[in-house]
Amino acid sequence: MKLTLFKKYFKTFNDLPLPGDVWQTAEYEAYVEAIGLNKDCGDWYFKQKIKDAGINYKKYCCLKMAYHLIEDKKATLENPINYDSVITHKRIDFGLPIHDGGNSYIKIDFCPWCGKKLSVT
Ligand SMILES: [Zn+2]
Repeated sequence: MKLTLFKKYFKTFNDLPLPGDVWQTAEYEAYVEAIGLNKDCGDWYFKQKIKDAGINYKKYCCLKMAYHLIEDKKATLENPINYDSVITHKRIDFGLPIHDGGNSYIKIDFCPWCGKKLSVT
């Protein structure tokens, strides 16, 4: 899929929640597939979502790390635990959240998406 078409679809499909007659289409299926399989479309999509979340992706090792931290950054004082979070960033640590009702996590030393070393040890 060309990036110009992907951007057009993004405008249509990014306005959630989508009605069933929109997401049950071949166009939506091609759009979702392009996020995972087309590097230009995927990178552009990740940058848009990261920017919308107010995150500076340049602070992280890769776009996917920054993208997957979006849910972690949604945690608030009132709701400190976000069960949709798959990775957390606490000061210098990165980790896999343990969803047991607390805010503990398993520290990781390398990015699960790009493999770069994460923490200063
Ligand atoms: Zn990375």
